[in-house]
Amino acid sequence: MSRVSCRLNICRLRSHRSYTSAELSQTLKVHAQTVHNWRKQGLQPIDESERPLLFLGSVVRGFLRSRIARRKSKLQANQVYCLRCHSGVVPDPQTITVEVVGRWLGNGVQAVRVRGLCPGCGANVIRLSSMKAIFLTSFWPKLQQGTQRLSGSHSTHLNTDERTGN
Ligand SMILES: [Zn+2]
Repeated sequence: MSRVSCRLNICRLRSHRSYTSAELSQTLKVHAQTVHNWRKQGLQPIDESERPLLFLGSVVRGFLRSRIARRKSKLQANQVYCLRCHSGVVPDPQTITVEVVGRWLGNGVQAVRVRGLCPGCGANVIRLSSMKAIFLTSFWPKLQQGTQRLSGSHSTHLNTDERTGN
């Protein structure tokens, strides 16, 4: 946890200090707009009626941590994050391709790239994962196929339901 937190400079925050939006963006090295977005996503100031708005360090830290935890826990091993749906989705099995990326993640774990189409909105979804993580998930058999026939046909067969207004 602490490693993730520090990457976002969360550990720079002092629990009992209050910060203005500008100070937050400076301390956390994020854009002012980002702080503004956090506000919209539920970050609570000490006093709504007070100007400038002040945010308590411990509250900001808690907000960011729960955000990280939520994003992480959202994704199961067989899911890919859809940017359009803002959630983890299980891609349509027929659309899944898994390729080995020429990169090692350390501990002898090799990186794989999972691609597919979101069953909800049809957007391309992509996830960088590892051999180890996808083992025994629905992605695993796709990897086997992928390595056997890399030059597959381009016509991916899809059951496309005509949907209007979506
Ligand atoms: Zn989607």
